[in-house]
Amino acid sequence: MNCLQVCEVFGPTIQGEGLQIGQPTMFVRFQGCDSRCSWCDSPYSWSIDQGFSATPKELLTHIKNLNANIKRVTLTGGNPLIQNTALMDEFITLLKTQGYSIALETQGTLYNDWVTACDKIAVSPKPNTYNQENLDKFSTLHSVFFKVVIFGQPDIKLAEELLRKYPNTPLVLQVGNIIGADTPQTLMQKYSKLVEETLNNQALQQVTAILPQLHVLAYGNKRGI
Ligand code: SF4
Repeated sequence: MNCLQVCEVFGPTIQGEGLQIGQPTMFVRFQGCDSRCSWCDSPYSWSIDQGFSATPKELLTHIKNLNANIKRVTLTGGNPLIQNTALMDEFITLLKTQGYSIALETQGTLYNDWVTACDKIAVSPKPNTYNQENLDKFSTLHSVFFKVVIFGQPDIKLAEELLRKYPNTPLVLQVGNIIGADTPQTLMQKYSKLVEETLNNQALQQVTAILPQLHVLAYGNKRGI
């Protein structure tokens, strides 16, 4: 396989989630996911056979054709770690030589050494994708923060467990967004409730941040933003 499998490239836009919230960035969404979360907001990225194929150089050109000035790129999915390791190594090296700051978003089910070259890594384990061994590895990287998307009690329990096991890794709680049901208004109501519940939960008082998805508040649940 000489090509990376890409779902979409878009931007410039803002990073709407996590510790880089509000920062301008380009996005590359890779095709393929090893999980099947019922609440997934990008199920179109699941199948590895869809999207388009691109060599690392072609993918870099694609990004630059959209915008050559933004030197921040976010690699998301699906799960970017499903991609061919050698090609991801090559792509990351290309981005670095071109002066890009790289953010990675993954659920933490897979680990590869190329992640260590990323400047910021959002690992968002879910109760159905929890992989202790890989979370242990990710937690050793200074660039990592954990993000738990809160839909219900199992997610709260997961957040509590992460704080207990990894007290030195920043933890972000994010309001769960149900595509087709939630609106910016309902999400802000859910956000207020999550803030209140978190601040009243002794086991969660060391969280780093409680955040909504800023891009959804600004633009609604639209693809490619
Ligand atoms: S891990 Fe992420 S991309 Fe994959 S199915 Fe779950 S929410 Fe969707």
